[in-house]
Amino acid sequence: MELGMKIRFENQLLVVPDKPIIPFIEGDGIGAEIWQVAVNVFNEAVFQAYDGQREVQWLEVLAGEKAFLATGEWLPTETIEVLKEHLIAIKGPLTTPIGEGIRSINVSLRQMLDLYVCYRPVRYFKGAPSPLKHPEKTNMILFRENTEDIYAGIEFEAGSPAVKELISILKEQFHVTQIRFPETSAIGIKPVSIEGSQRLIRAAITYALTHQRTSVTFVHKGNIMKFTEGGFKKWGYDLAEEEFQEQVFTWRSYDEIKKSKGIEAATKAYQMALDEKKLIIKDRIADIFLQEIVINPEEYDVIATLNLNGDYISDALAAQVGGIGIAPGGNYNLQTGHGIFEATHGTAPEYKGLNKMNPSSVLLSGALLFEYLGWQEAAKLIETGIEKMIEKKQVTFDFHRLMIGSQEVSCSAFANGVIQEIKKAVQ
Ligand code: NAP
Repeated sequence: MELGMKIRFENQLLVVPDKPIIPFIEGDGIGAEIWQVAVNVFNEAVFQAYDGQREVQWLEVLAGEKAFLATGEWLPTETIEVLKEHLIAIKGPLTTPIGEGIRSINVSLRQMLDLYVCYRPVRYFKGAPSPLKHPEKTNMILFRENTEDIYAGIEFEAGSPAVKELISILKEQFHVTQIRFPETSAIGIKPVSIEGSQRLIRAAITYALTHQRTSVTFVHKGNIMKFTEGGFKKWGYDLAEEEFQEQVFTWRSYDEIKKSKGIEAATKAYQMALDEKKLIIKDRIADIFLQEIVINPEEYDVIATLNLNGDYISDALAAQVGGIGIAPGGNYNLQTGHGIFEATHGTAPEYKGLNKMNPSSVLLSGALLFEYLGWQEAAKLIETGIEKMIEKKQVTFDFHRLMIGSQEVSCSAFANGVIQEIKKAVQ
């Protein structure tokens, strides 16, 4: 067998050999059984898409419980080195160790590799269970900032010497009087920077332009957190108007035209932008946005948001199109090329070994990985396979319990069914 080669990043572009080495982390709980069936689907999709000319050389690296049992470490240094060197990887869900000095392996990986984009496409597969009357109207691409915000992990425990000192500094040096119960408060710090916000927003706008999407919405709580979330919004508009001036029309410029020239002029400018198919850049306050995605999902396309908002929004959107069993995700850094693609669900330990969970989240995360490599044909085949299985109503238990007339199949039978559909699709 021909040896695989490493993926490289040169001149801001990935250089992908035909037989790239791609590290994988199997994952804890249900991770192993899902990975074992998913890898067969990935190999089949690549084989069928490229007539055997391309092939992934999968390389296992350890993290989570498997790593802890083998090495005593939850996230071994060797794993980080391999991930850094090979640029792209895929992972299953990992247990969050409690009281082990590491907050979350997932968050650590994102921070260590500076994977600032969390990319979550949300689309509806015809026939999938949904609480909405028109789930097909939900079609959004979520860009969640992945390295800042309250997720940076800067927190001080109530009653600790650190929190006492911090509170006294806040009172004495910054004249803070609003801490309601200073003796018993814990404190969390929320860093949000211009660079951190703009690199995420740049990725979202660039994606929207290259994929002919219609709008980018900044979702924020700038009405309450004026400097952090309000900053995100302002820096987003600044970036859009400075770097993408010719290609976009912003709500901020609409407001400015309205103020200076009146509503008619503003409406005319907006209409002209629509006629010229310019990308519309708008913003929404996070709480209203959560209402909007249920009531008017068709109004939203690409979303750019901060870390914590993105966490809530991604699960809410997933629920609209079938739940976390089918929601894929990717985390990447467009400046270094690094990317880790992952199931968005957790380890579901109570289901471990039952061979019944939905492998679609990992399968679609693999499709995102292939898209990121530029292997769109393989990605499309995976999506088609899943689409067909749902259409045929042969689904895992999570869908079966919500789909009238469906047949429940196991995790492995679902994946085998996807493989058969991939073969049919290329005939
Ligand atoms: P979870 O493992 O995602 O499970 C929550 C529920 O979601 C399950 O009980 C099941 O619902 C449903 N579910 C999850 N995966 C599914 C799948 N593939 N197919 C069908 N249904 C699925 O969340 P958790 O119980 O909160 O977390 C367990 C552990 O996972 C924790 O240690 C957590 O920190 C970790 N975690 C890891 C990641 C990650 O690695 N990216 C993400 C989230 C959580 P029903 O019981 O209703 O059927």
